[in-house]
Amino acid sequence: MREYVELGHMTPLSESSTIDTEGCCFIPHHAVRGSHSDKRKLKVLFDASIKTLNGWSLNDRLYTGPKLQMDILTILINWGRHKVVMLADIEKMYRQILVRPQDLLQTLLQLAKDDEIKYPSAAEVIRTDTYVDNILTGVKNLVEALSLQKDLIGLLKGGRFFLKKWASIDRVILNQIPKELRLQKIMFENVQVVKTLGLGWNPKEDCFIYDLQDHNMTEEITKCQMLSFMAGLYDPIDWLAPVVIIGKILIQQLWIMGAKWDESFDVLLPSAGKLSQLIIRDAHSRTLHGGVHLVLANLRQKYWILKAKNQIKKCIRDCLACCHYNRVTQH
Ligand SMILES: [Zn+2]
Repeated sequence: MREYVELGHMTPLSESSTIDTEGCCFIPHHAVRGSHSDKRKLKVLFDASIKTLNGWSLNDRLYTGPKLQMDILTILINWGRHKVVMLADIEKMYRQILVRPQDLLQTLLQLAKDDEIKYPSAAEVIRTDTYVDNILTGVKNLVEALSLQKDLIGLLKGGRFFLKKWASIDRVILNQIPKELRLQKIMFENVQVVKTLGLGWNPKEDCFIYDLQDHNMTEEITKCQMLSFMAGLYDPIDWLAPVVIIGKILIQQLWIMGAKWDESFDVLLPSAGKLSQLIIRDAHSRTLHGGVHLVLANLRQKYWILKAKNQIKKCIRDCLACCHYNRVTQH
């Protein structure tokens, strides 16, 4: 907060100043601790959707104009089409502009329009590859990428905006940028990942990674916990749908069973499904190709698979080693 005052982005109200409590709204904020490597770093999170004493939130009172930017889905899909990709953040964007915040995105678009002739490709990026203050863009080759990078910096500098948190698939692009302006990588299962739009991206492999470490379920699983776990997954374009659907089916089965909110279960899995199959197969081999009862007992130490018996029988029927053994012992 002190930094905000020092930068002139905020002025404290004096004790004596009168506030029109009917007409004004407050934006509450709270501190959020960074995850992974920057756990000590505090971020300020504003929530303009919280209602003030007069019953209104700031968001209620703002007129929502037409959509000025592409949605996350479009931006991410477009991003995937480029051969050489890069991303950057506009530094402290919301606090850089002396306009009402809702006009802010328009300010960026106006900047793009004003300098279109000088920086045509950068202007296009502002229009199509920018989500709030995140730029995710790319081009066909390195030469184009370097020129676009220069133009983006130039265009935004004209509006006194600065780009930071750069990341790219190509080292040469990053080498143009001082180290402190590069996006810090975090380690995730021995892979270096950067965070963009709330998703983990591995620049080396150019793929997105989901980190469920922050969503660890505790030992006891309840319906309440499962719902909160699912609601906490940030998956803007449904890439996790094939996995999440299993959880949704489980929750549905819990409702049908009439499970209470805080009733706890062991790890509960649907009878069909790849994961259950793999777990059964694993238990079967860990019990040295054990029979139904042995496998079931082994499973139950950790999991509760619905209609497990049938699935175990099927697993044994399909097991090549067991088939072979049975044939040999029969003859
Ligand atoms: Zn077997």
